[in-house]
Amino acid sequence: MFDTLTERLGGVFDKLTGRGVLSEKDVDAALREIRVALLEADVALDVVKAATKQIRERAVGEDVIRAVSPGQQVIKIVHDALVDLLGGEGEPVGLSLEGEPPIAILMAGLQGSGKTTTSAKLAKRIQETQKKKVLLASLDTRRPAAMEQLQQLAGQIDVAFLPIVPNQRAVDIAKRAMNAGRLQGFDVVILDTAGRTSIDEEMMAEAHDIARVTNPRETLLVADALTGQDAVETARRFHDRLPLTGLVLTRMDGDGRGGAALSMRHVTGLPIKFLGVSEKPDGLDAFDAKRVAGRILGRGDIISLVEKAAQNVDEEKAARMAKKMAKGKFDLDDLREQFSQLKTMGGLGGIMGMLPGMNKKMQAQAAAAGMDDKMLTRQEAIILSMTKQERAKPEILKASRKKRIAAGSGVQVADVNKLIKMHRQMADMMKKAAKGGRGGLAGMMGG
Ligand code: GDP
Repeated sequence: MFDTLTERLGGVFDKLTGRGVLSEKDVDAALREIRVALLEADVALDVVKAATKQIRERAVGEDVIRAVSPGQQVIKIVHDALVDLLGGEGEPVGLSLEGEPPIAILMAGLQGSGKTTTSAKLAKRIQETQKKKVLLASLDTRRPAAMEQLQQLAGQIDVAFLPIVPNQRAVDIAKRAMNAGRLQGFDVVILDTAGRTSIDEEMMAEAHDIARVTNPRETLLVADALTGQDAVETARRFHDRLPLTGLVLTRMDGDGRGGAALSMRHVTGLPIKFLGVSEKPDGLDAFDAKRVAGRILGRGDIISLVEKAAQNVDEEKAARMAKKMAKGKFDLDDLREQFSQLKTMGGLGGIMGMLPGMNKKMQAQAAAAGMDDKMLTRQEAIILSMTKQERAKPEILKASRKKRIAAGSGVQVADVNKLIKMHRQMADMMKKAAKGGRGGLAGMMGG
């Protein structure tokens, strides 16, 4: 899901050149792209404004964590802003079903939004995870096929279904459903209201009447995430007339725009409670702002990489090292320190898994090339077999010394040569990187 937004944001961050702190110029350059990306992802204009304002406030002047690139850090800031816009982490999720049974849940939405499917999914979920007795009822008096569809779904998922009585008004079916719920000991009654192709007065009046006689604990609006701005407009109009308590976004498995989720939350102020992620009866996920924000960005697990780096990197040490690098003094002890830092960040394997664009195949290739955690340990062993002087001045390492080191660390002389060559290349790269303001292995890897 959210491919469009992901792709747009992909190229933005590599252009950043933070030095110490993120400058206004850097952040503004990124924001221009982020704004376009969000608009193209069908996020409503006022939501885009709110998002970019938040991101700007948070990013400008932010200290750059040295172990990650400024780009990665901005991604984290954008991510956190998206999480907040999606309702934040502290938002109560799930449904409130406590109280005198039967509890009514009213399902509203346009025809084709996935309302009937979602009603069934929700029934299954509540029955299975909360061990409540659920009754499904269809109030779609204008479309007999819709009633039969729900009846069929109910049969498939083993949930009770209120028998269809032809020519009954929706309000009367609702009353009958609540009565049946009371008499037959159901905890929850899910009412699938009629869907229309567009919002009209009659539909709203009917939904209003149904709400009056059933006193629903939850009134959920089901909207199709793929319809973008239309879904947002629908939500706004429903919310004006019905006391909605939450949103369900369907077709989040499609490769459509991610804007709907952001906009709908912002425009209605209503929590997104569930996401429809397939046509199957179990294709309903509890909403999780962090997960959705992460997927909107689609940059691997950069977020946790940045969090880990921030936790692990001893800033003072990093600053000292950056100074040395800038002067071209990056010795083998420093290299060893970088290795051990990588290890505390979950090793190369862990870090590679978090990097965007790093798929399973590439990870396997890297492992085959010896870029694994064993390699880290081996390299550390080689360096530890050197004298202090050798570590500080690798250029004194001639054949006899290399032989001794290889024997001491249980490797071949060729391995020692490789390490020395790698160190030389890295020292050169770091000198260059230091001029650009970044330091550390992770900064180089993240580019
Ligand atoms: P209603 O008219 O609002 O009741 O819509 P339906 O429940 O009949 O759904 C319309 C179509 O969308 C059906 O073919 C469903 O299987 C499909 N659908 C519903 N939710 C999802 C979803 O989350 N993902 C996918 N891929 N399809 C869905």
